[in-house]
Amino acid sequence: MEFESILLPGISEQRPLIIAGPCSAETEEQVMTTARELAQKDIRIFRAGVWKPRTKPGGFEGVGLPGLIWLQHVKKETGMYTATEVATKNHVIEAVKHNIDMLWIGARTSANPFAVQEIADALKITGFMGPVLIKNPVNPDLELWIGAIERIYNAGLRKIAVIHRGFSSYDKKIYRNLPQWHIPIELKRRIPNLPLLSDPSHIGGKRELIAPLCQQAMDLNYDGLIIESHCDPDNAWSDKEQQLTPDVLSYILNMLVIRDTKQTTENLNELRKQIDEIDDELLAVLAKRMRISREIGQYKKERNMPVLQTVRYDEILEKRTSVAVNMGMGAEFMKTVLEAIHEESIRQQIEVLNQ
Ligand code: PEP
Ligand code: MN
Repeated sequence: MEFESILLPGISEQRPLIIAGPCSAETEEQVMTTARELAQKDIRIFRAGVWKPRTKPGGFEGVGLPGLIWLQHVKKETGMYTATEVATKNHVIEAVKHNIDMLWIGARTSANPFAVQEIADALKITGFMGPVLIKNPVNPDLELWIGAIERIYNAGLRKIAVIHRGFSSYDKKIYRNLPQWHIPIELKRRIPNLPLLSDPSHIGGKRELIAPLCQQAMDLNYDGLIIESHCDPDNAWSDKEQQLTPDVLSYILNMLVIRDTKQTTENLNELRKQIDEIDDELLAVLAKRMRISREIGQYKKERNMPVLQTVRYDEILEKRTSVAVNMGMGAEFMKTVLEAIHEESIRQQIEVLNQ
């Protein structure tokens, strides 16, 4: 897939691209006050949800059309670009009619191929060329996320970016939505030229997590951040725990350390060569281990012994994990690696058994 830049005229090419604004447009006053304060802090793209997908009925479900008119006022008065969430054909048609500059597809919507297709078809009808930002689906399914990207792409749009907003889980001890960083990283590996934004507000779900999540996204070379900001977070009608005042947002953004990617890649070549060599060694050692496993398999076959011997396996797991921890590696990581190796060993031994 070939993409075009999502940077609208006048928006800096420097990382990170920033989109900020309230979770929801609530009143004209709240929208305008927040927008003015953000514009003063040099924020150039204003977000606000006017249609709000809520977990349960009866809550605040967004102001609808009047919100789009307030966004037009924001644009006129502050010169900021505007962005809103669309989930149906009608949302797309109305948002485009009201000259919204950027549209995003929410996490509940991108999990539903029918809805994404409906949006794709509506985009085609309206002739809107983007940018369209596609949030990860609520469930940790990379293929579903890529499917949503392809549907929008196939409608002819090229100004596409993705937003990592974390994944639903029953466990909400730290994060509101688990980051599962490996999923967006794998997406970036599969589609390298697709801009990637982080939504620390919906990942963290609370104010104190926004700053570290922003820094982590920058350290992972994300292109931008979409952050919820409200003139009076404590009285917000949705997502109040995670919204920041424009002042605090600006403070956090100024504290971010943006590491220069171009300069470091050059110097990294030598270290990367070493990593390549170590990976080669790892592969050779693993292959050797598998050969020995097969010999053990042969031995077990001749003596009619079962392939899986759990006592031995538990022993290996425990010993190796504690050695690994002493060497500075995580116990969970080592367990995962050993389990994967063990699974492959078993597979190879069963192959021997069936020969
Ligand atoms: C939002 O951005 O306000 C929103 C509803 O987000 P998500 O789709 O990530 O839950
Ligand atoms: Mn929100």
